[in-house]
Amino acid sequence: MLESLSTRLARVVKTMKGEARLTESNTADMLREIRMALLEADVALPVVREFIAKVKERALGQDVVGSLSPGQALVGVVHRELANVIGADLGKEASQINLATQPPAIILMAGLQGAGKTTTVAKLAKHLIDTRKKKVLTVSGDVYRPAAIEQLKTVTGQAGAEWFPSTPDQKPVDIARAALDYARNHYFDVLIVDTAGRLAIDDAMMKEIAELHAAIKPIETLFVVDAMQGQDAVNVAKAFSDALPLTGVVLTKTDGDSRGGAALSVRHITGKPIKFIGVSEKIGGLEAFDADGFANRILGMGDIVALVQEATKAIDVAEAQKLAEKLKKGNRFDLEDFKAQIGQMKNMGGMQGILDKLPAQFQQAASQVNQDEAAKKVRRMEGIINSMTPGERAKPELIKATRKRRIAAGAGVTVQEVNRLLNEFDQIAGMMKKMQGGGLGKMMRAMGG
Ligand code: GDP
Repeated sequence: MLESLSTRLARVVKTMKGEARLTESNTADMLREIRMALLEADVALPVVREFIAKVKERALGQDVVGSLSPGQALVGVVHRELANVIGADLGKEASQINLATQPPAIILMAGLQGAGKTTTVAKLAKHLIDTRKKKVLTVSGDVYRPAAIEQLKTVTGQAGAEWFPSTPDQKPVDIARAALDYARNHYFDVLIVDTAGRLAIDDAMMKEIAELHAAIKPIETLFVVDAMQGQDAVNVAKAFSDALPLTGVVLTKTDGDSRGGAALSVRHITGKPIKFIGVSEKIGGLEAFDADGFANRILGMGDIVALVQEATKAIDVAEAQKLAEKLKKGNRFDLEDFKAQIGQMKNMGGMQGILDKLPAQFQQAASQVNQDEAAKKVRRMEGIINSMTPGERAKPELIKATRKRRIAAGAGVTVQEVNRLLNEFDQIAGMMKKMQGGGLGKMMRAMGG
C-alpha cells in the first residue's frame, strides 16, 4: 500500500538533517525507501526504476532552502515528480471529456469485467448532464450478459439519461450503429457505448472491441481500470492500449485500500491522462482526476482543499464555504470550526472520505478505531465542546484546570478526555494554519526551491 510510502518518507526525513545540498549520499536511503514502498504498492518495476531515476536527477545538487531539512526538500522533489508521472504536467484540461465533434460525441468504454465500466457509464452520463448540460444516450454492447444490459438500463435511469435497448442475439457493431442512428435522429449530444469485458485479457474480446471502435470512430475511448488491481493492471493496460487508440483512463474504486499503485503504472504504460477517478459505488461517485491532489494523498500530506471540497459535497455547502473563506482571510481555526467539521464527518455516514485526506499520522490513529467507536467518540467530542462558553471555543488556550473540570462534569466525561480533545484540536488547528496562505501547492513549491 502506498500509505507505507508516507510512513517511510516521514521516517527518513527525520534522519536527514543539517546539510545544505541534496547529494548522492544523503538521498540514497530515502530513494531506497521510496523504491521499496512503490514496489510494495504493486507499481510495475520499470515504472519504479524510471521514477527513481527522474527523482534522483532532479534532486541532486539542489540547494536546500530556508529552514528546510534535506529530507523535506527531497519530499518536495518527490511530490512534483509523482504529480507529473500521474499527469500534473498535462494540466487540468486533460481530465475534460472531449466533445468537440459533430454530435453525437461517441464515448467508448473498454476494460475487464468488473472493472466498473457500466457503473462509470452512468456516472459519466450524470456528470455530462449536470456539469455540461448534455443530452446523453447510453447503449450496452455486452451481448454475453443480459444482466449487464439490464444493469445499464437501471443505472442510466438513475443518471437521468436515456437508454437504448439491445439484446444478446445482436452483434455489438450493429447495436452501436443502431444506437448512433437513434442518437442522431433524436439530437443527442453524447452517446456512451458500454462494452463486454472478460475476466482476463482475451483475443476475441480485443478483436471485438477493436472492430467496434473502427465502426463507430469514438472521439473518446476510455480505459476503465480497477485501482485495487495491483501488478496486473499493467498487463491489462498494455493489452488494451495496444489494441485500441485510447484517449484516457478512468481509475475506479479509489475508495478501496490500495489506490495509487495502479495510477502510476497505468498512466505510464498507456501514456494517456487519467480523466476521472471512481470514489464510491454511488452514481455521484466520480471525480475529475486531480494529479496534484492525488500526489498529496499518496504522500500522506493531506489537502485542505480536498478536505473542504469533501465536506462541501457531503452536507453543508454553506458551512464549508464559510470555513474556507475564514481560513483564506487568515482567521484562526477555532473549536466552533472543529465542531462543525466533526459534525460533518458524522453526517457523512462514515468518516473515510475525510480521513483519507488527512496526513498519514492521523489516518493511522483513525484506522485503529472502528466506525462505531468513532461515531460514539464524535458525540462525546461534541458534548465537550457544547459545555464550553463561546469565549472558550474561540480561544481554547483560555481554558484552565478549574474550567476543564467544570466542562468535563457538564459533558459527563473525564478531564483526560477534555485534554485529549484539546490536544487533537491543537494538532488539526496547527495543520490548518500550515495550509493557510496559499495552500499546499505553494508550500511544496517553496520546498523544492
Ligand atoms: P463492469 O463489469 O466493468 O461493467 O463493472 P460494474 O460497473 O458492474 O462494476 C463492478 C462492481 O464495482 C460493482 O459492484 C460496482 O458497484 C463497483 N464499483 C464500480 N466503481 C466503483 C467505485 O468507484 N467505487 C466502489 N466502491 N465500487 C465501484
